[in-house]
Amino acid sequence: MRGGSVAVVGGSIAGSAFAGAAARLGAERVVVLERSPARLEDRGLGICTHDDRFAELVDAGHLAPDTRRHRLTVRRWVTRGPAGEGDGGNGRGRLLWAQPFPFHSHHWAVLWQALRERAPAAVEYRMGSTVTAVGGDRDGAWTERADGTRTPYDLVIGADGYRSVVRAAVCPQAGPEYAGYVCWRGSYDSALLDGLPGGAAAWPEDECATVCYPGGQVVLYRIPGLAPGSTLVNWVFYAPTPDWLRLDGPTAVAAGALTGEQLSGMREFAERQLPPYWAGVIALTPPERTLLQPVYDLAVPHRTAGRLLIGGDAATIVRPHNTSGAVKALQDAHAFEQAGLRLGGDSWEPLLAAYDRERTAAGLELVDLGRTLGRAQVTAAPDWSAMDGPAMDAWWRRQLTTGAGFGGHTLGRTG
Ligand SMILES: Cc1cc2nc3c(=O)[nH]c(=O)nc-3n(C[C@H](O)[C@H](O)[C@H](O)COP(=O)(O)OP(=O)(O)OC[C@H]3O[C@@H](n4cnc5c(N)ncnc54)[C@H](O)[C@@H]3O)c2cc1C
Repeated sequence: MRGGSVAVVGGSIAGSAFAGAAARLGAERVVVLERSPARLEDRGLGICTHDDRFAELVDAGHLAPDTRRHRLTVRRWVTRGPAGEGDGGNGRGRLLWAQPFPFHSHHWAVLWQALRERAPAAVEYRMGSTVTAVGGDRDGAWTERADGTRTPYDLVIGADGYRSVVRAAVCPQAGPEYAGYVCWRGSYDSALLDGLPGGAAAWPEDECATVCYPGGQVVLYRIPGLAPGSTLVNWVFYAPTPDWLRLDGPTAVAAGALTGEQLSGMREFAERQLPPYWAGVIALTPPERTLLQPVYDLAVPHRTAGRLLIGGDAATIVRPHNTSGAVKALQDAHAFEQAGLRLGGDSWEPLLAAYDRERTAAGLELVDLGRTLGRAQVTAAPDWSAMDGPAMDAWWRRQLTTGAGFGGHTLGRTG
């Protein structure tokens, strides 16, 4: 096969998938360089995958069919109404629309673990390895550490997320653009819901709730816990930029790093804007399990330069409204592998060119769709109080403007 050595910078979803693909293509040595010193299991947040996208990735061998996940079937859009009206008296708000929702939810770490378990034995993970720079030319590439040590490879793959150092070498002009709003995120053991008026029973297990308010929305669903059989509540609260947030560079505030004042500001905002049940769901979140992420867009005009390649969030950041980020990362790795299998031979150039062509276009479509969804659902949202089922259905259809579907592209359509 191709032989040679491949470094993958970043060992998250995209990195694990690309490492497996490179090993299966016949690379002699595949090294994953991951900055995080410890195991990544603690990144316990929710990710959804569309049932069809999941099945395609299983058929293609990227995911195990028995990957532990939580079934969702319906997305109920609600908004705050006059007290008690249309909410059965349980404080859930007025129902705007019940939308079919053929998705499963995942715990990030469970998905990552399943991916890692499928990685060929030849893949070597080096935790605590931060890459500070990369470079190269048509014949080879290198990674550099903080002490200046350079290591040569035949190919360097950047799967190092939204602040990618590999992207800085491939596309120095491209960087994340702030979308103008943030998402607060939280998760916790769903047994805590029993403490709410109405308890856990007021919120069906298979429901993704979308709670709309003027200027934003909260998306809430359950995900599998790390321990088999356990379930967590997971929520994403799209909200205006807090006045304390510094936006002079891409930044997020990690779980446990928000101050008491910042957290109580968010909770008070939730109480003012949301039906009481959902404000209560948010208020139950332990401070150490609440974090904040500004929402970004990023699309790159090309994904390769010499023997450097970028994939996953290093190459495209799609607003979370489209629930396609993990699928997109896996599809990037799939396209890379398929191009290698299709083209054969020992040269990396045709493979890199084919990957670049296929995935750059797909990424642009997804970013466009994410922007459209963000405008329609957050920054230019309708007057929710005037919406009903048929109006919501028509409004939703108007948002699906690009070739990318909600939840991501069909596998193989673009790659
Ligand atoms: C609020 C929110 C909700 C989301 N919801 C969904 C959803 O429902 N469905 C979905 O599919 N996707 C969702 N996503 C997106 C999804 O999480 C990502 O798109 C996906 O995980 C792909 O990530 P990645 O592997 O490319 O990058 P990341 O997960 O960001 O990983 C990058 C890795 O690189 C490492 N790294 C960074 N720099 C260096 C360096 N210099 N040297 C070494 N290592 C480095 C990091 O430590 C990290 O492990 C959501 C995202 C957000 C923000």
